[in-house]
Amino acid sequence: MGRVVVTGGAGFLGSHLCEQLLARGDQVVCIDNLITGSQSNVEHLVSDPGFTYVEHDVSTHTWVEGDVDAVLHFASPASPKDYLEWPIQTLKVGSLGTHNTLGLAKDKGARYFLASTSEVYGDPEEHPQSETYWGHVNPVGPRGVYDEAKRFAEAMTMAYHRYHGLDVRIVRIFNTYGPRMRPADGRVVSNFIVQALEGKPLTIYGDGSQSRSFCYIDDEVRGLLALLDSDHVGPVNIGNTNEFTMRELADVVLEVTGSRSSLITEPLPVDDPTQRKPDITLARSVLGWEPQVQLREGIERTAAYFRQVLGR
Ligand code: UDP
Repeated sequence: MGRVVVTGGAGFLGSHLCEQLLARGDQVVCIDNLITGSQSNVEHLVSDPGFTYVEHDVSTHTWVEGDVDAVLHFASPASPKDYLEWPIQTLKVGSLGTHNTLGLAKDKGARYFLASTSEVYGDPEEHPQSETYWGHVNPVGPRGVYDEAKRFAEAMTMAYHRYHGLDVRIVRIFNTYGPRMRPADGRVVSNFIVQALEGKPLTIYGDGSQSRSFCYIDDEVRGLLALLDSDHVGPVNIGNTNEFTMRELADVVLEVTGSRSSLITEPLPVDDPTQRKPDITLARSVLGWEPQVQLREGIERTAAYFRQVLGR
């Protein structure tokens, strides 16, 4: 049990992480600038005496009073729609924000945990992607703002580890979904479910043959905590290995919601990866972790959440 700083703690992933840390007895200092996060995500936590919320942009100087045992850097726009809308902030939080929070961890003698991403693999030529793959990223394309910021963040984290001896962990998070995604977040799972519930056409980008592997939030957070508590520096992939095309995903969403929405096609975003699936051999062997929630069950739980949010 300790005192943990979570940047981006009012976001989708961050808020679930804060919740699970509190549940196991840790104290949590949640920092968020609310660009894409929302106070409503942590409203249910503010009455917990172990929880502190601070509105702050970690791309600027960042300081926390008192002892800190771990700094978990989750702040960043994470949906392509968001990081295209906030390109400079995305680059800053991945670079300056990582530097500032590494400095905080170093000063406090705390463990540092970096939320990296499968986007460091870009449009991968190796499939599935294992941690040893160096990736295939277009640095000057629109997605480069997120991909390169996270690649820089990994390099910076390893430099602090090697040069300063900082105790670090790096996770590469693959597509994660579940309650508390924003309805207008722009990602495929939230888009399809909201469209299905509202009886609007499901927007398939390109021909819908591109693939992703979707991990339910509870599985993802369990994996993150297992890595945080382990002795393994990483990077470690945490994601689900069940791979679906976007057309297959649309079918599952229509079936689960009982919607009769049609499918329409829209242009494929620039540099949209054609395939993505984690190799989780490392997570299985060093963390004893693997996902448990199947896509259909996860979509059912997520659709129940969106029904409530949309009042349907
Ligand atoms: N996508 C889609 N329709 C949508 C939103 C996304 O077909 O309404 C596709 C998108 O082109 C990509 C995949 O779904 O191939 C996953 O997109 P998302 O934005 O969820 O995450 P990404 O894995 O690209 O970061």
